[in-house]
Amino acid sequence: MLKEWPPRYDRSYIPSPDAKFWNKELETMASEEREQKVILPKLQAQLRYAYEKSPLYRKKWDSAGVKPEDIRSLEDFEQIPILFKEEIRQDQRENPPFGGNLCVSLEELGRVQGTSGTTGKPTAFGIGKDDMERIAEAHARIMWGFGVRQEDIVFIGSFFSLYWGSWGTLMGTERLGATAFPFGAGVPGQTDRAIDWMKEVRPAVFYGTPSYSLYIAERAKARGIDPAKDFNFRVLFFSGEPGAGIPSTKKRIEEIYGGICVDTGSTAEMAPWMTNGECECRQGMHLWQDIVYAELVDPVTKKRVPYGKEGATVYTHLERNSQPMIRFWTGDISMWVNDPCPCGRTYPRLPKGIYGRADDMFIVRGENVYPSAIEDVIRGIKGFGDEFRIIITREKTMDELIVQAEYAKDVDSGVVPQLKEKLEAELKARGLRTIVQMVAPDTLERTEFKAKRVIDKRDLYEEFTKQ
Ligand SMILES: [Zn+2]
Repeated sequence: MLKEWPPRYDRSYIPSPDAKFWNKELETMASEEREQKVILPKLQAQLRYAYEKSPLYRKKWDSAGVKPEDIRSLEDFEQIPILFKEEIRQDQRENPPFGGNLCVSLEELGRVQGTSGTTGKPTAFGIGKDDMERIAEAHARIMWGFGVRQEDIVFIGSFFSLYWGSWGTLMGTERLGATAFPFGAGVPGQTDRAIDWMKEVRPAVFYGTPSYSLYIAERAKARGIDPAKDFNFRVLFFSGEPGAGIPSTKKRIEEIYGGICVDTGSTAEMAPWMTNGECECRQGMHLWQDIVYAELVDPVTKKRVPYGKEGATVYTHLERNSQPMIRFWTGDISMWVNDPCPCGRTYPRLPKGIYGRADDMFIVRGENVYPSAIEDVIRGIKGFGDEFRIIITREKTMDELIVQAEYAKDVDSGVVPQLKEKLEAELKARGLRTIVQMVAPDTLERTEFKAKRVIDKRDLYEEFTKQ
């Protein structure tokens, strides 16, 4: 089925408006058939290309003792070593600005995009002109899948900067032949203007972050405007935050706006980032595996996990000739399934969206625990302050989980024992046996960046026992 690699798409192609699929054959074929006939050949071509053109991959794979021709199946593909964000950063420092996986010449580049750099120096991506067309094609196809059509006006309510979200949406909208309304975000007074325009232009599709859509709704209501009646949104789709995949948030957005809430998005490195994308049935993000190949792996052993299990996402481009990412580790945690979706597409799905970060996860008594889950509980009880620590120790062979939490400044010291009991009970109700230690306000250290809230003392114990 692979005619040429990287593929070139017919830019004039548009399905008929009542067609459910952009590419019915590809989207509905049996998933094993698609793996053999489409994904594997594309993957092999991508690997050969990357090995030939990229010093980064050649060096990395040579030292792992694996060559593209060794990869004869998707199982073999697990031999290719995982690529970490820190390697990309390091490589870009050594080979500025784009690093050793830029596989095209400067004349072939069409765009510079990047990461936001919230956790370090931003990463720069050189996007080739041909890749921009393929990204637009992929996004149009996925947007079609959640119901965007040519007659629609797509309101893009997010930043136009290095941030990929807005640009990726704009490219997909234009390729699909819908009308783009690139409104942007972040300028003082812009939210009120957005509300005015939403009432007047009545766009049918909204793109932004879930939290911004909720903020717009709040402002609209304060002005006596009902988003469900006075706006005209049929589809609201999101990336950049996990909210659109969290059932309670999804329901809230749908109730407020009266349109469907669609979750999309992998990560900036992986543009076309919409290849994690829900269809209009909203049963969790489909993994559009013939565009970007996604795997879920055990966060510790890095072995692929079966469907029905939780793992960390690892992504591989299948049609990028500029800066392809091969087995890129994002650190995002999700759970995948491969059972049928009512839409008829045969792509695996992430029914709970992306709900955690592997970097933050720890294992206590065989259970995976995310600090975010503990944070949720603490924040849900009145009387606790902002800061807390999680300390894991080992008594003989048993793990002990200690949560140190500050009580709020306005709390009477008499109720502190009750707070301790309440937190222990609520954590226990969630399957976490903990010892809560209450500490006075401002006791725990604050940092300007991401606080390190988990202290694992078990390694120390193991070192002692080895001696
Ligand atoms: Zn579906």
